[in-house]
Amino acid sequence: MRTDVLGVAFDNVNLDEAVDRALAMFEEDGPHMVATPNPEMVQRAKKDREFAGILSQADLVIPDGVGVIHAAKILGRPLKGRVPGIDFASALMGRMAGTDRRLYLLGAAPGVAEQAAVNLRAAYPGLVVCGAHDGYFQDDSPVIEDIRRARADVVFVCLGFPKQEKWIAAHGGEAGARLYIGLGGSLDVFAGRVERAPESFQRLGLEWLYRLAKEPSRIGRMAKLPLFLVSAVGARLGRN
Ligand code: UDP
Repeated sequence: MRTDVLGVAFDNVNLDEAVDRALAMFEEDGPHMVATPNPEMVQRAKKDREFAGILSQADLVIPDGVGVIHAAKILGRPLKGRVPGIDFASALMGRMAGTDRRLYLLGAAPGVAEQAAVNLRAAYPGLVVCGAHDGYFQDDSPVIEDIRRARADVVFVCLGFPKQEKWIAAHGGEAGARLYIGLGGSLDVFAGRVERAPESFQRLGLEWLYRLAKEPSRIGRMAKLPLFLVSAVGARLGRN
């Protein structure tokens, strides 16, 4: 049973459980989708029914942001904890390394996915990165064909939300991989273009604050986040 947090149903899993579930999906025919919603995505799903429908159909939905964990607690349905998409992806690559499972990287500005591939092969010896493509394409067909030709098992789809989830829903079957994971800006981090918050910030659940300090232009997007928790309080009070 999933845990509803303001309209998006989350799997109550920790990092290891999430990775085990993803690995089990390799054993079945695809396509499977893993979604990693943060509060901004939950807010988007409220007004975008297509996006909400896609999230509800995903095979695994993990809570990426600390805001989701707070909201779940406020709603009286606590989740085990945050599973940042990038940690999930890293743990999965650790388990794929040395197997014959093939990873394809899709998204970000030209050159970023290729650089991420170089870095990831070095970080996870034995990891098969079978292809990479930037996220600024006009025509889907050559990208789908490239993923097919690469015989990818898993694709990190990093086009930003809700584009990446919609792309997976529309083209995942055709591209032939078993598992697709929407991972936002992760390729920029893997390529070393964007720095992740230091561990102390991550531990305190303040990664969002670090990101804001680094990219103050995100203030407009982030200003909506307190409203997310306010909606959780409203939903809780409405129920009591
Ligand atoms: N992006 C892309 N194609 C697009 C729009 C965005 O590949 O048409 C990439 C962008 O370059 C960045 C990622 O998608 O690498 C989105 O990053 P952001 O940090 O905004 O995503 P979040 O993690 O907040 O979803």
